[in-house]
Amino acid sequence: ALTAGIVGLPNVGKSTLFNAITQAGAESANYPFCTIDPNVGIVEVPDHRLTKLTELVQPKKTVPTAFEFTDIAGIVKGASKGEGLGNKFLSHIRQVDAICQVVRCFADDNITHVAGKVDPISDIEVINLELILADLESVEKRIGRVEKLAKQKDKEASIEFPILARLRDAFEAEQPARAVEFTDEEMKIVKQLHLLTIKPMLYVANVGEEDVADPSGNEYVQKVREFAQKDNAEVIVISAKIEEEIAELEGEEKQMFLEELGIEESGLDQLIRAAYSLLGLATYFTAGVQEVRAWTFRHGMKAPQCAGVIHSDFERGFIRAETVHYDDLLAAGSMAAAKEAGKVRLEGKEYEVKDGDIIHFRFNV
Ligand code: GDP
Repeated sequence: ALTAGIVGLPNVGKSTLFNAITQAGAESANYPFCTIDPNVGIVEVPDHRLTKLTELVQPKKTVPTAFEFTDIAGIVKGASKGEGLGNKFLSHIRQVDAICQVVRCFADDNITHVAGKVDPISDIEVINLELILADLESVEKRIGRVEKLAKQKDKEASIEFPILARLRDAFEAEQPARAVEFTDEEMKIVKQLHLLTIKPMLYVANVGEEDVADPSGNEYVQKVREFAQKDNAEVIVISAKIEEEIAELEGEEKQMFLEELGIEESGLDQLIRAAYSLLGLATYFTAGVQEVRAWTFRHGMKAPQCAGVIHSDFERGFIRAETVHYDDLLAAGSMAAAKEAGKVRLEGKEYEVKDGDIIHFRFNV
């Protein structure tokens, strides 16, 4: 499964956020295929469409789709030189698909800051620099091999070499690979390098309770936003402490607490959805009287592969996908009406599933 790693300097609120994640935790009985690992938190992906579908279909059970966060502890200055738990830290980052970097944007004199004062940009730079240096090392190693071949007019090396040189220039200017622009063709080569700084990055600005409803007055947040724009990254504002409290609540209680705080959606829910889309993930649904359920797939996946998300037998024996889009079903008001209006299609194995499709798979066993 795809996972987003949570990183950050000590004392920025990582554990608090990770606690909120495991508190809010998905009911694991529904997700037997998920990892059981104390460093992995499984959360349900909030989706208002699932609520509507449940109202429409009245199933016995409704199951949201899930998403994994991995807690990656142990960043220190000098990680790229193998200091402290440095190498371990970097190898953990190599295994995640996106990075959520928690940044301290709350002032609290009782809580020590590792660098002595709250300064989100310099915090970000400490972590990013370690990742950039690790990438610089990989690219320089590769250049050592490829440059010679390029001089000998090796075709592939001649294409790769200038790409590596551009990456090296970016790293030397302390820029991450994700801030460099590549064509789709070039990107295929870049991907093979398994760089750390090419992974999508999301900054999680951790603010105090007083700033949750309106973070515009928090100058740290503004700085993080400016930085993220140059860095080709996204920003989510949360208060980890409040999220811990919200995570203990459910249903109406949760709704009331959010209203008191003056926010529509919990920061954690925003974070989950942001990480989900950052990873290029989308949702399709199955809807029967027994169960209405959301499933995760990657943009661009075809119908049989999507069937395989449910069970490998579904993929192997795939015949057709009876498909109606959520918007069409909702407009029609019922499955029968959608059928009558010609909105239910029979799709074959070349069909690219869309976010919001409701599918009934037909398959041979
Ligand atoms: P970690 O070292 O990054 O895992 O940081 P922790 O999650 O342990 O948080 C460090 C300290 O900051 C703890 O005492 C938290 O209670 C506190 N903390 C975390 N988030 C907030 C926040 O939004 N506001 C305030 N005032 N304190 C927070």
